[in-house]
Amino acid sequence: MPSITEFRDTLVFLAPPPEDGSGRAVFDRLDELRVLRNVLDHQIAVHVALLDASGAAARAGSTTRSWLIEMGMPPSVAHRGVRIAGGLALLPKVADCAADGYLAAECVDAVVRGIALIDRRAAAALSDDDRRAFETELLTLAFSGATPAEIDTRARGVAVRVADADPDTVPAADDASLNTVHTRVTEEGRVAISADVSAVIGEKFLSMIDERSGPRPEPDGAEDRRSVGERRADGLELLLDQAAIGAAMTTAGAPRTQVLVTVPADGVDPARLPWVGAISAASAQRLSCDSGVAEIILDTEGVPLRMGTTKRLFPHHLRQAIIVRDLCCVKCGAPAAHSQVHHLVHWADGGPTDLDNGCLLCQRCHTQVHHHGWQVVMGPDRHPWLIPPADVDPRRSPRPAYNRRTMRLDDAPV
Ligand SMILES: [Zn+2]
Ligand SMILES: [Zn+2]
Repeated sequence: MPSITEFRDTLVFLAPPPEDGSGRAVFDRLDELRVLRNVLDHQIAVHVALLDASGAAARAGSTTRSWLIEMGMPPSVAHRGVRIAGGLALLPKVADCAADGYLAAECVDAVVRGIALIDRRAAAALSDDDRRAFETELLTLAFSGATPAEIDTRARGVAVRVADADPDTVPAADDASLNTVHTRVTEEGRVAISADVSAVIGEKFLSMIDERSGPRPEPDGAEDRRSVGERRADGLELLLDQAAIGAAMTTAGAPRTQVLVTVPADGVDPARLPWVGAISAASAQRLSCDSGVAEIILDTEGVPLRMGTTKRLFPHHLRQAIIVRDLCCVKCGAPAAHSQVHHLVHWADGGPTDLDNGCLLCQRCHTQVHHHGWQVVMGPDRHPWLIPPADVDPRRSPRPAYNRRTMRLDDAPV
């Protein structure tokens, strides 16, 4: 039998298949390679199980998983290998199919995880018959062409069924006593948030965030430059702003503001937030542009001098007028309902609260304007124009608001 090194050399120097122009030969070759990969992945799982059973890593004060990562496996592949290695012993049918290369490691893993989940949720330990039945159910699904995600979903369904049979157990997905939300102010003055919540809270969060974090084209028509994480964070801020508005509408009496910023009148000390502490001047300006924030000016003894809210907030009728003019975020076209009113000249610098000094910006673009060098100016046409920072456009040519994007500045009436 040839050694693995000889196998590898054969593959390294694999010549392309003879081609007839139809692509058929390459297709067939790819199919063979796919099966080969499945066989290889299964052999890796078998050998991981052997290594684990030897106890070598544990004796050296480590784990099989760490050894695999040190060997050069990406962490996710090492995790998967160890998981499959641990699960296959109880799943002989899955192991047989995987050994012959009929199942991709991702599908094997989905079945292994699915059975483990059902096992955890079941009130009593699964009988061998039950486990065989569930194994067959998930395996059949895998062979019908289901994706790993679909196998996950089916397994969760079975797990709920199995747990429901015992009224005394609360499935982990529903167990409110496991819910946690942790927040921590980091050394940089950011806030790290982590949460572990029930399926229902998680679903509410995911659907609300997803609805608010879709990609939107940049003003130059390029694809959204934000990462998925950045888009979700923008979605989270929008969600909180909307929640504050909703809370104000449903609370009888005076509208509540959700954020309170205190600004020392001496202009030397930084503005502060109650939870986070000192914030940058740019953040303070960005916050005070936003109507959901109350601002209190403090004298040197920390006594409130005045509320900064009276003149700076755009009243309802002005906001409506700005919506009629701008229709949407002037930078990216996000809907007006997702937008805040930005002061072109900041109110603290003497900018008035009127139609010609306000424009609609979604919270992402609002941040871009206050922190990343974008500028909004009022054009001679009495519409807002955007001036990009030099790193986006070295000439800093003004761009029209989103709803007038086909215009050039020359077209505007003087
Ligand atoms: Zn925008
Ligand atoms: Zn602003």
